[in-house]
Amino acid sequence: MVITSLIPSATRHPRARPVAIGDALIGGSAVTIISGPCAVEPGYVAHARATAAAGATVLRGCVYKPRSNPESFQGMGAQGYELLDEARHVTGLPIIAEPLEIEHIAELRRHVDGLMIGARSMHNTPLLRAAARTGMPVIVKRAMSATLDEWLAAARYVLLEGNDQVVLCERGIRTFETATRNTLDVSAIPVLRERTDLPVIVDPSHAAGQASWVPSLSMAAVAAGADGLLIECHPDSEHALCDAAQAISPVTLAEIVRATELLVTLARPSAATTVDQCREAIDGVDSALAVLLERRAALVGRVERIKLDAGAPIRDRRREAEVTARVARLAPHLGSDGAAAVMTAVIDACVTTALAGA
Ligand code: PEP
Ligand code: MN
Repeated sequence: MVITSLIPSATRHPRARPVAIGDALIGGSAVTIISGPCAVEPGYVAHARATAAAGATVLRGCVYKPRSNPESFQGMGAQGYELLDEARHVTGLPIIAEPLEIEHIAELRRHVDGLMIGARSMHNTPLLRAAARTGMPVIVKRAMSATLDEWLAAARYVLLEGNDQVVLCERGIRTFETATRNTLDVSAIPVLRERTDLPVIVDPSHAAGQASWVPSLSMAAVAAGADGLLIECHPDSEHALCDAAQAISPVTLAEIVRATELLVTLARPSAATTVDQCREAIDGVDSALAVLLERRAALVGRVERIKLDAGAPIRDRRREAEVTARVARLAPHLGSDGAAAVMTAVIDACVTTALAGA
């Protein structure tokens, strides 16, 4: 289908390879969801559980917070380590955290699976080097005013220490626009996919600054080819100690996870080769089919009600033949017999369910 020629991975760098954070791969065929509250705070273990249940596969666990306002909550510091350990234990998920200073790294590495260099620290080359030397995966966020070249140069500081486990994270840049916290540079995604073999993820939370905009920016990022999303999520965002306005609920996170899977299934070809990989991809396709079938059944239900009210006949064999012929054209591998078999079953099921509900 035409859509497969639009896929961002078609322009992917020839040496692109995934980076592993614990068991989670960033840069494979799936979009990795990293999520959790902005900061580790009392209650973090419950927050982590809710985030994991919503479908995240890596947790945010920041105990040190770079805050613009010195009077704001600065993070739990070393007091948060126990919470990190417990969250990792109960969810079984890997955790990433941000060191603000070189001294934080030696301790943090005992409690987390990956390090994040925040936007404010992207230019801190000694910190980049120290993070690199742990050998752990390092997420390098883009500074608010960094060009792609400056950002890639920061990533090279990690690579040149012999650590190739680097992930780039776009989090919005500072522009003249003040309606959003930052301006998400979606263009960076396809450009970087051609220019570097490093996976690229997107943080829609710090770009938007408002929870209601996070789903749209997440979908834009995935459609543009992002390998992952870093999203702030809090089960009780009103009481979040940090960045409360931009934290989405676990329910919204689960919807983003589901929509992301659908978008990936529809817009990116599967690179699966082994039986297990193919089965995973087939499961994704079946989930997409299920969503579409539900939607089709609902629409058929609306048509049936209109027909019943008008006293018109329910079945329209000519229309059914047209529908089947269109599917046969769009899915040539099915062949016309295959398309007829599938669509007869689909149409019958939709009509029967609609009638039962009418
Ligand atoms: C964060 O992700 O915790 C953060 C502070 O974001 P940024 O460094 O992108 O501002
Ligand atoms: Mn935040």
